Amino acid sequence: MTSLKYLQGYPASLQEQVRLLCERGHLQAYLSSRYPGSHSVQSDKTLYTYTLEVKQAYLKNAPGIDKVLYDAKLDVMQKALGLHTSISRVHGGKLKAKKEIRIASLFKDAAPEFLKMIVVHELAHLKEHEHNKAFYQLCEHMLPGYHQIEFDLRVYLLWRDQEQNGPAIS
Ligand SMILES: [Zn+2]
Repeated sequence: MTSLKYLQGYPASLQEQVRLLCERGHLQAYLSSRYPGSHSVQSDKTLYTYTLEVKQAYLKNAPGIDKVLYDAKLDVMQKALGLHTSISRVHGGKLKAKKEIRIASLFKDAAPEFLKMIVVHELAHLKEHEHNKAFYQLCEHMLPGYHQIEFDLRVYLLWRDQEQNGPAIS
């Protein structure tokens, strides 16, 4: 059985399609035909600028972000694709929440669509904490086709695991 841990929650028919791609060794072809590009957002500094540009375009009035950084230790799926944290720090006796967005380092090498998707996801959390309908509407607004791209990102993660660990099929 192919482990489709990234695709739990999707319809069985969709999972079956991916399973077939997997078994036939077609995952890479599927991904590279749809997402052939790369991007130059390689440092924390450019990631911060990139994120603020998206925020300025769509979420001008949402709370500000203090920091955006790549995190090599971040487990993408465990934190539901990203990590949104507010760190409380003491500032002159006053407690001030610091907004920080961490993006898993694997997105450096991922297609630009996937980077955009994860940034949009994290930004949407500035307004909606839960993964509810309003949250996904906001994601779609910032990135049309968001749902398909999130699905394909999960396929990408599956492919990446296979590359690193050998086929998940036994
Ligand atoms: Zn989330």
